[in-house]
Amino acid sequence: MSENLYDIAVIGGGASGMMAALSAAKTAPGLRIAVLERLNRVGKKLMATGNGRCNLTNTRASEKDYHGSVAFMRFAMSMFPPEKVMERFRELGVWPKEEEGGRVYPMSDQASSVLDTLRLSMEEAGIEEICDFEACELARTKLGYRVSAKDGRQIVARRVICAAGGAASPSLGGSASGYRLMESCGHESTARFPALVQLKANPEYTRPLKGIKYSGDIDLIVGDKVRRTETGEILFTEYGLSGIAVMQVSRIAAQALSQKRPQPVYACLHLVPMNREEAYGLLKKRRGMLSGRTLENFLTGLVNKRVGQMMIKWTTGLSLSETSGALTDAHLDALAESLTGWMIEITGTQGLEQAQVTAGGVRTQDINPETMESMLADGLYLTGELLDVDGDCGGFNLQWAWASGMLAGESCARSLTGEKQPAGRRDKPVFENRRPEKAPAKAPYERRTPPERSKSSVRQGRPAKKDEYRSDDRRDLRPSKGMRKPHD
Ligand SMILES: Cc1cc2nc3c(=O)[nH]c(=O)nc-3n(C[C@H](O)[C@H](O)[C@H](O)COP(=O)(O)OP(=O)(O)OC[C@H]3O[C@@H](n4cnc5c(N)ncnc54)[C@H](O)[C@@H]3O)c2cc1C
Repeated sequence: MSENLYDIAVIGGGASGMMAALSAAKTAPGLRIAVLERLNRVGKKLMATGNGRCNLTNTRASEKDYHGSVAFMRFAMSMFPPEKVMERFRELGVWPKEEEGGRVYPMSDQASSVLDTLRLSMEEAGIEEICDFEACELARTKLGYRVSAKDGRQIVARRVICAAGGAASPSLGGSASGYRLMESCGHESTARFPALVQLKANPEYTRPLKGIKYSGDIDLIVGDKVRRTETGEILFTEYGLSGIAVMQVSRIAAQALSQKRPQPVYACLHLVPMNREEAYGLLKKRRGMLSGRTLENFLTGLVNKRVGQMMIKWTTGLSLSETSGALTDAHLDALAESLTGWMIEITGTQGLEQAQVTAGGVRTQDINPETMESMLADGLYLTGELLDVDGDCGGFNLQWAWASGMLAGESCARSLTGEKQPAGRRDKPVFENRRPEKAPAKAPYERRTPPERSKSSVRQGRPAKKDEYRSDDRRDLRPSKGMRKPHD
């Protein structure tokens, strides 16, 4: 075989590409396989996954955890469900351990150990790694495909697996070059936008709370509908909001804001686990008990101290040096409202630059879901995040990368050996029923509808008017008056 002639060329040395190469080598040992990677080493993104621990998969993966072409995924995910993926990792040497929520990590707690193992296994299987090779052109030849790199290098392969990933996180290898390559072969892409990404809000409200994190509920509201509720870590940042719960709802925000005429998007934060009436009762009790304390500490012990202080300043307009006894019933009601449903308008996302995943990608209608082979170009296979499939936080994206890679690698190798796909595959359990129904929300929180845009003092940053709250008239306290800009 000539020096640059391969049986299989895998474009992209990420999770899906490496797994595809290994599966092809396992299915048909002896094939000459190359993994072509545009960066100077393979698996750069993998090293950053799971905060350096690599959340490999999730034992509870179900259709509900995915977005985009979910029906397309069924075959690959039922052929290679999380148990199969874990079994494969054990064969390679990585021992998986399951944590809360079905999240699976390597027992070593090191993403680097997953990458080391994949690279060692590739070396043992004779798979070649060719780095600094950015595939930019794919041309049909008599034998298969000629893959050309940006720097002019070329290789020829009988089959090509494109596993070039998505455009998210360019510093870790994310790039749109895979989409361009596939579009040059006739494939179309859907609109792309960031998913699992931090949200931007008016920094006037989040900057003073920068660095504070807590565990709570967040509702993502588009227009006047709560589109998703998540419980988990919420982090205030310089630019807005981060944390796992925020990332989970971010896809909906990004999609809504990417529309031509976007509806307003809000994050509603529930800072205390109770409804407004309960919170009002509790605050009233505290006012009685702690009337001698300054407002600086009125909410200390209930919410984060700094959050509490900001809430008092923004909501009541009172100075923190005043005593708790200065709080009127109207102030307490406004505070109760803010603590049980702080509406923050979302103005954008941190973009694909910071996103963990790309939503959207190559349309799946032209790909055979049982082999991952293109229906437009024989001998070309597509896998992983490159496709119009994305998952939530929790190991779901890597699960898809492994499963689609395993299927593409196997079927590609079989197409070279002439071996038929094993029969009876359709009888395997389908992943749609794997997850138990989510338990109902713990507390009967009030789900607030957003305030009328023009009236929102929070979003408009309108300073409080002196007579806005009248302690004897609670009817005056409409949601939009709940929070105000800090007093000058
Ligand atoms: C910070 C971070 C943390 C994450 N943590 C998790 C987690 O814990 N669990 C989880 O399930 N998911 C996680 N994800 C998402 C997950 O990493 C991806 O969904 C997954 O890596 C996708 O695999 P892939 O092989 O399709 O693409 P990638 O892993 O992105 O690999 C694609 C590879 O192709 C290369 N490439 C691109 N274009 C070309 C070209 N033209 N020629 C040659 N090479 C090319 C790229 O450099 C890259 O190495 C995380 C993502 C990020 C950014």
